Amino acid sequence: MSSIEDSLVAACSVFLNWSTCAGFANNFAPIVVSNLLKLNLQNNYMCTNVLGLCADYNSGYVTLDPEQYIGGILADKPAILANDDFIDNLYKEIAADPAKDQRPTMKFVHFTDIHMDLLYRAGASKECADVICCRASDGYPTNASLQAGPLGTFGCDIPVDVVTQMGDIINNEVKPDVILWGGDVTPHDQNSYTYDYVTSLQKRLDDWFGSNLTNYALYPLEGNHDFVEPNSQDFTKQDPMIAYNLQLWDRYFDDQAKAVYAKHGYYSQRLRTKQADGTMKDVEGVNVIAVNTEACYSMNFYLLSQRNDPGDVLAWLNETLHGFEQRGEIAVLMAHHPPGDADCLYQWAYRFRAILDRFQHIVRWSVYGHVHLEIMGVAHSIKNKKPTGVHFWSGSVSTWFEVNPSFKVFEVDTKTMLPIKSHTYVLDITNTEIGQQGWKYSHEITARYNMTDLSPSSFVALAERIRDNEDVALLYQRTQSNGGL
Ligand SMILES: [Zn+2]
Ligand SMILES: [Zn+2]
Repeated sequence: MSSIEDSLVAACSVFLNWSTCAGFANNFAPIVVSNLLKLNLQNNYMCTNVLGLCADYNSGYVTLDPEQYIGGILADKPAILANDDFIDNLYKEIAADPAKDQRPTMKFVHFTDIHMDLLYRAGASKECADVICCRASDGYPTNASLQAGPLGTFGCDIPVDVVTQMGDIINNEVKPDVILWGGDVTPHDQNSYTYDYVTSLQKRLDDWFGSNLTNYALYPLEGNHDFVEPNSQDFTKQDPMIAYNLQLWDRYFDDQAKAVYAKHGYYSQRLRTKQADGTMKDVEGVNVIAVNTEACYSMNFYLLSQRNDPGDVLAWLNETLHGFEQRGEIAVLMAHHPPGDADCLYQWAYRFRAILDRFQHIVRWSVYGHVHLEIMGVAHSIKNKKPTGVHFWSGSVSTWFEVNPSFKVFEVDTKTMLPIKSHTYVLDITNTEIGQQGWKYSHEITARYNMTDLSPSSFVALAERIRDNEDVALLYQRTQSNGGL
């Protein structure tokens, strides 16, 4: 360990165990140092781009202008999108339909950020000098207020029962057509990540998919906690976790999706539903796009040296959406990091926004996780800054961010593929008796906030009410954690 790492460990150990801090240093420092050396600490880059002393010297490093990229993306924006109101207009059409209550719908479940802790033990101490507690190694206090609960504890990751109970309510009550899995199954003890540890969690989760969620089409993706080097994916080669999940998730992918996913962990695939006879049926003209946002994650330290468009995620997305447009197809988009969150690097997120602006008629809605809170975001067009689409950020199944476990169910109008209801199921970890089903239906977004519909402009109207009305603001705040702290 270098002297820099020693110093970091010493500083960290003021708050956490020495061994935990050493684990963090071991897992993070080599990636940070090696990637800083590849670009930021190179003489030419330092002189030109950091110190600004070599302006006349052609170092070979060019700072790209995002406006140039965005201009290119928007150059062939179709005339039908001139008013940036395509999705709003579709919602108006649904509202004007005299038979709107009889329109066929589909159900999508989105659960994300499970962070399942196989070492969680009810009764163990919920206080410790580690990143997560509630394990046998933290001891079993006699004081009940310090004991981990049977179905989770605020600040800890979750016991397996939370996941199995979620499967029960999905199967018995929700009965969806499609499941979107948003990533992050490994607990937050990133100091102890190894290949065996991370893959064992992936396998455990997929075994549960294979034994409990067999009646639905399922679309998976990775979160930042699903990589062996925590948070980090090297886009210059195939990541070991992509290789592992390629085998594990084989049954979810068609050949085309498999070939694309194998490179860098993103894919698109036709939306499918499972028929009564057990076969899968394509929903013609509708696709699911899974975007790998490791390419924008601020804690992915490989991005210190991999700039512009790591893994060609944006180039692939742009090309894929062009293909859908030419064939008259549409899509639902899923990703782990929301593009409007500070964790997703601005330069990438700004370019992503331009793509969503250009293809606002193709991407009908999108879901995200990672922040562990139930939040809504609105995509705005670059030029007119008008609301063009809705981003649903689902809460986490894990309690680590001091939230009650939750997942979302979207009722989607089959003809337009637009969500008309957004339901949330919640497990109240404080008031659930041992042995009882803790998951309960909680609320629906339009009813909770008294909204006309789930259109982009309705969300802008809600945002203005949150800004102007303290009661609505408090309701939104409480809903984010679904009764957590
Ligand atoms: Zn997470
Ligand atoms: Zn995450």
